Amino acid sequence: MGKKRNYENGEGRRKINVMMIPLILIFAFVVFIMIYTSRLMYSVAVSNSNAVIEDRIFNISSMIENHLNTAENVLHVSADSIQHMLDSGSKPSRIHEFIVDETNNVSQQFDENYTGFYGYIMNRFMDGLNWEPPEGYDPMSRDWYRIARKNNGKVAFVPPYIDAQTGKMIISVCRMLDDRQNVVSLDVRLERIQSMMQGLTLNGKGYGFVVDETGFVIAHKDEEKIGTNITDSDKGIEYLHDIMYSDSGNFSYTFDGEESTVYVNPIMNHWYVVMVVTDKEKFADFSNQLAVNILVCTLIFIMIALSFYASHKNQKDYTSRMEAMKLEEQKALYERKMFEIEKDAANASNRAKSYFLANMSHEIRTPMNSIIGMDEMILRNNPSEPIRKYALDIQSAGKTLLSIINDILDFSRIEAGKMQIVPVEYSIASVINDVVNMTRTKAQDKGLVYNLKVDEDVPSVMFGDEIRVKQVMLNLINNAIKYTREGRVFIDVSYERESKMLDVVVADTGIGIKNEDIGKLFVSFERLEKEKNRSIEGTGLGLNITMRLVHMMNGNISVQSRYGEGSTFTAKMEQEIVDPTPVGDLVQKISSENGSSEEYKVSFIAPEAKILVVDDNDMNLEVIVNLLEDTKVNVKTAMSGVECIEILKNEKFDIVFLDQMMPGMSGLSTLEVIKRENLCERTPVIALTADAIVGAKERYINYGFSDYLSKPVMYSALETVLLKYLDDGLIKNVEDEGEKPIIIAISDSSDKLKNVKAFLGDRYKGVFVRDVKSAMRYLSKKDE
Ligand code: ADP
Repeated sequence: MGKKRNYENGEGRRKINVMMIPLILIFAFVVFIMIYTSRLMYSVAVSNSNAVIEDRIFNISSMIENHLNTAENVLHVSADSIQHMLDSGSKPSRIHEFIVDETNNVSQQFDENYTGFYGYIMNRFMDGLNWEPPEGYDPMSRDWYRIARKNNGKVAFVPPYIDAQTGKMIISVCRMLDDRQNVVSLDVRLERIQSMMQGLTLNGKGYGFVVDETGFVIAHKDEEKIGTNITDSDKGIEYLHDIMYSDSGNFSYTFDGEESTVYVNPIMNHWYVVMVVTDKEKFADFSNQLAVNILVCTLIFIMIALSFYASHKNQKDYTSRMEAMKLEEQKALYERKMFEIEKDAANASNRAKSYFLANMSHEIRTPMNSIIGMDEMILRNNPSEPIRKYALDIQSAGKTLLSIINDILDFSRIEAGKMQIVPVEYSIASVINDVVNMTRTKAQDKGLVYNLKVDEDVPSVMFGDEIRVKQVMLNLINNAIKYTREGRVFIDVSYERESKMLDVVVADTGIGIKNEDIGKLFVSFERLEKEKNRSIEGTGLGLNITMRLVHMMNGNISVQSRYGEGSTFTAKMEQEIVDPTPVGDLVQKISSENGSSEEYKVSFIAPEAKILVVDDNDMNLEVIVNLLEDTKVNVKTAMSGVECIEILKNEKFDIVFLDQMMPGMSGLSTLEVIKRENLCERTPVIALTADAIVGAKERYINYGFSDYLSKPVMYSALETVLLKYLDDGLIKNVEDEGEKPIIIAISDSSDKLKNVKAFLGDRYKGVFVRDVKSAMRYLSKKDE
């Protein structure tokens, strides 16, 4: 148990591992993609933000330079004008006036960015705004004067300072005039530059400032920082140094432990436009993008993993389904094989059974041939009582025995699936007539009333298996007679045109059937109340065969019975209508017939005919010889195939009857020799056989026989064959035949012919033939 669990665990782990490998690979791939894209995004973000910042600084730098340049230009223009006035001897008051005007002009023109001109001219301080300097104000000590003189005629910028007049941060642009005496200066307000600092950010992040080479902060996003000096702070000098000497335009710097990038753009006048962004700020967008990237990659991975899992599961389900299907298939295959083996075995056993039955039937029919044939001989000799009675008993018992054999054969045919419904066109009148003739006497002999009712509306010609319809009716009627001691047997035949069902109801006032026994009725070999019915002959097969036949004809059979009072069997069989003409009052026609006389009377003679009968059984030979005695046919006999061939080599015959089951050379091999040696060129060879299993006739004809005669050989059948195969010229009428009216009966059923023959009695001369051809032959012969 423990071992098994371990095994299962190991198996499970292995499965998980197998499943994990592709997942890990996918995960690694996704991580790689994530890192790769992040790096890409990072470098894009860096270069983007660098570009943005540099672009910003550059713009602002040029705006600042523009601001200063404008001031410079304005100063140049005014300075040159003053020089010109000086040169042209203008008075100081006039120059002062000019300065005041210029101040106004510039102030108006440039939005008060340049607040005023002033100067030290002709040893006088002149101010465009007419500002009165305080006591002790010495212009020559002021930065603007000193720096301008120092710069020797070039424009100089005075570092920012708080304007004494306005209290605002300003710078002055100053220049010594060409006379190298006088100095003019223009104050430039820094508010504009200051306002530019608000735009020096990276999407609102970071800060910008303008610093000069001394570290003095000229403008700053944070106004409070204006006027401070960055060198005053810790490491300020170092910081300023970095600003001034950064080659690449930016450098990293740590402010209070925070990593930042410092972007620098040197502009005119040794000013530096600087922008500082902490890395956190700079990469804020990038970190957002990174987070999104990670999220997207994670989602992708999860989706891939899920779909992988799903497909793996599907695959697993599919595999297990396939395995299950395979298992099912194998099972089905196994079952099929088993079924085939069983079927083969069953077939083999069926074949063995059929073989056995064929043999048995042959074995029984062969002596039956002698018994019934000899018995017929006795009856033909008009024996006196009680011999006649004994002979009649033998005949009856023989027929019963034959019917039992026939039942067994039918049953085995059905079991082997060889029973077939062979539909033909038939006359219902003839079927009912036959059935009545075969049963009425029996019932009447037992003292039973035999009642027949046939619906007048029954169609006269139908299409169905005439033989099996008859068999069903006979089985039911014979049972009714068998199981009824007194009272009556009632037969009612009708037809349902809509459902095409031929209905046969057979009722009796017999022993009846117990309710509990009804279920056993149709079971093969089942006989009810065996003790009580011991004296009644039967196999227990009749009803089973009847039921199966009825089913094969798309019908059904039902029974109603009261124990001790009688039973009613109803069989329905589907039969197509060929001629819908109502059959009419059939009962009247049948009852007027007197079918009792069965006395034999020969119908023709053929004294010139020669036939050869071959059979190993001398009694059978004798039967045929005797049966044909009155026809005056010349009968020669042979007891083996070899003898037959010898005779045929020397003599010609009109018909050869050849038995099948002979020791040594069988009938079939004898026929082969006959055919090979052309011994019976025009002579029909008729198979004589006790083999009555299904398809026998067809088989014999296939083998090359002209026809088939089954044993025991009945005279009527023998006579029919003779009439069919003997040459016209050989058949002669019996001497006294001319006086009687001749009736030719044509039917392929020997039973029917027999019935008609019985019906005709002595009053007519009956000629019984199987087909029209034979009838024609008879007639043409008669006319000669
Ligand atoms: P069996 O050859 O014995 O007559 P069947 O198959 O024809 O065989 O009938 C089976 C049994 O059904 C019979 O043995 C008999 O007990 C009973 N049975 C058949 N028909 C009738 C009937 N008309 N009345 C009473 N019992 C019947």
